[in-house]
Amino acid sequence: MRASSTLSISAEANKKINEGIDIINFSAGEPDFNTPDNIKEAAKAALDSNFTHYTPYEGIPELRQAVADDLKAECGIEYSADMIVISNGSKHAILNAFKAILDPGDEVIVPAPYWNSYIDIINMCYGVPVIAETKKGNAFKVKPDMLGELLTDRTKAVIINSPNNPTGMMYTEDELKAIADFAVKNDLFVISDEIYRRLVYSKKLRHVSIASLGGDIFERTIVIGGLSKSHAMTGWRVGYSASSLQVAQAIARIQSNATSNVNSIAQAAAVEALTGDRSGVENMIREFEHRRDYIAQRISDIPLLSSLLPKGAFYLFVDVSKLYGGSVRDIDIKTSADVARALMQYYGVAVVPSDAFGYPDHIRISYATSMRDVVEGSNRIERFVKENF
Ligand code: GLU
Repeated sequence: MRASSTLSISAEANKKINEGIDIINFSAGEPDFNTPDNIKEAAKAALDSNFTHYTPYEGIPELRQAVADDLKAECGIEYSADMIVISNGSKHAILNAFKAILDPGDEVIVPAPYWNSYIDIINMCYGVPVIAETKKGNAFKVKPDMLGELLTDRTKAVIINSPNNPTGMMYTEDELKAIADFAVKNDLFVISDEIYRRLVYSKKLRHVSIASLGGDIFERTIVIGGLSKSHAMTGWRVGYSASSLQVAQAIARIQSNATSNVNSIAQAAAVEALTGDRSGVENMIREFEHRRDYIAQRISDIPLLSSLLPKGAFYLFVDVSKLYGGSVRDIDIKTSADVARALMQYYGVAVVPSDAFGYPDHIRISYATSMRDVVEGSNRIERFVKENF
């Protein structure tokens, strides 16, 4: 198994930064903000009151209820608290979900570009990832006819991620309805990764959860969420799954034998994150939008580069194929990995090449970094193109 490419590239960039090398780190999808103070205070209070013992392995009841309330308020889906399992980040929730539903050899349709860890997680569960390569012309979104071409009698599930990492695109309600109908008709589970659902950058756009589109699809969807991105809580490791009771109980049994509960103090902090003052989160979202507007404009002004305007999450997916055939000093540019290597080596910018996401010809820029870095990184990418191509 490979290590997570996003985490590995980011670790490499951070190592260089710690060695004093001047790198703008556009690689990891990790907010640069600190966790809001009210959330940290809740953690301190939990520690001071000795909330340091095992908790129920599915998560504390207050947090499961808070997640259920939040999903109702934000997505209009009615879960009871016992359908929610709190996990060590949403990555762990995805692993739990596939462990719960897959038999060895079961196939999972994964639209590409995809978040890199899906593939390794499915493999870890002895499942078989089946890639549906989407088109830029359809905003990198999968359609039922593409799913139909890949359907076999081993297909068990499809994974949907909206807002999307790495493209920033979002599915509309109609698009989700079509996928839901397909899943119901073909008896498939849907893993709906909604970790970026709060990070949506237009008043006109609304995140829709596929689980909200009727009783049949509700039953067969496993919604994945977490606090890392929206609440700047990456290190706390709090994620969750929301599913039918039967699946939730299976996930809980798996977790009881694997990791037990999520850190008790982090759970107490997560209750505050979901029920307390939200102004910190709203400020972060506004700042991400400001950065998105800036970097999307800067990149679109650079000749030979192009990208679609992200609607959510905090990534820009940039087509670099027009640079192919050129070179940057000793590096011949033939793939997006060459572009990423040359950017890192000679211009001090860390990005993720799109082969990590199962797709050619793009780099992913994470703008979850300071405005100073967004500006300086844009300047460097502009110089990179203008000086060499
Ligand atoms: N999800 C983020 C990313 O895509 C964080 C790193 C990871 O876990 O992949 O960069």
